[in-house]
Amino acid sequence: MTCGCQYIGPEQDPQKGPVEYCGKTPLWPGRSYCEEHVWKVYQKGTAMGMSRKNKTIEKELEDLKRLQEIDEMESYHE
Ligand SMILES: [Zn+2]
Repeated sequence: MTCGCQYIGPEQDPQKGPVEYCGKTPLWPGRSYCEEHVWKVYQKGTAMGMSRKNKTIEKELEDLKRLQEIDEMESYHE
């Protein structure tokens, strides 16, 4: 697993050849995306993200962060 942000720009197509990952430090340890791109990916993932109020997204990001922490705790028990 790579330790950098795995975001691929929209201009890159993994099916056409090697792509370059963003490679920045992820927002949280073990996370796949940096602070800049986790928002993009998350908003894309929710589809309605762009039309939602930032406060709602911020709250959901907090929930995501909590989930991430739970993930990490669970991984210690494996
Ligand atoms: Zn990135």
